[in-house]
Amino acid sequence: MSDSPTTASGSCFCGAVRFTIAMPTLFCGHCHCSMCRRAHGAGFVTWLAVARHQFSLDKGEEGLVRFRSSHHGTRSFCGRCGSTLFCETTHYPDMVDIVLANMNDPIDRAPQAHFYFEDRVDWVCVEDGLPRLGGPDFTDPAQ
Ligand SMILES: [Zn+2]
Ligand SMILES: [Zn+2]
Repeated sequence: MSDSPTTASGSCFCGAVRFTIAMPTLFCGHCHCSMCRRAHGAGFVTWLAVARHQFSLDKGEEGLVRFRSSHHGTRSFCGRCGSTLFCETTHYPDMVDIVLANMNDPIDRAPQAHFYFEDRVDWVCVEDGLPRLGGPDFTDPAQ
């Protein structure tokens, strides 16, 4: 792993919001929950997470729109181009979830599992062999 990246940058579609993360990431996975689906307009959304101190917002703080999507979660997106960017939860205040699709550079891991798999839509076919997790803490094998 000597050529593993140490940092990676990301940005929204229009470039107004730019950010950098430092490795290592905490996880990377596909989320099939209905909130992600609707917020992103996609069949599922691939997230990575880093410790908050490894995340820096380099540009565009003023253009970031924050939306409280549940009693514990806040999602943010670019107010100019609409790219969905980050999700933060009071359950894990020291962690930031970041949309993998907005990264400009490779990160240190590949997606490792499907989360909220029981909430998936039937028009997305998943045959990648990754673990499919569900249950109340999305840690149990999904049905
Ligand atoms: Zn933008
Ligand atoms: Zn989700």
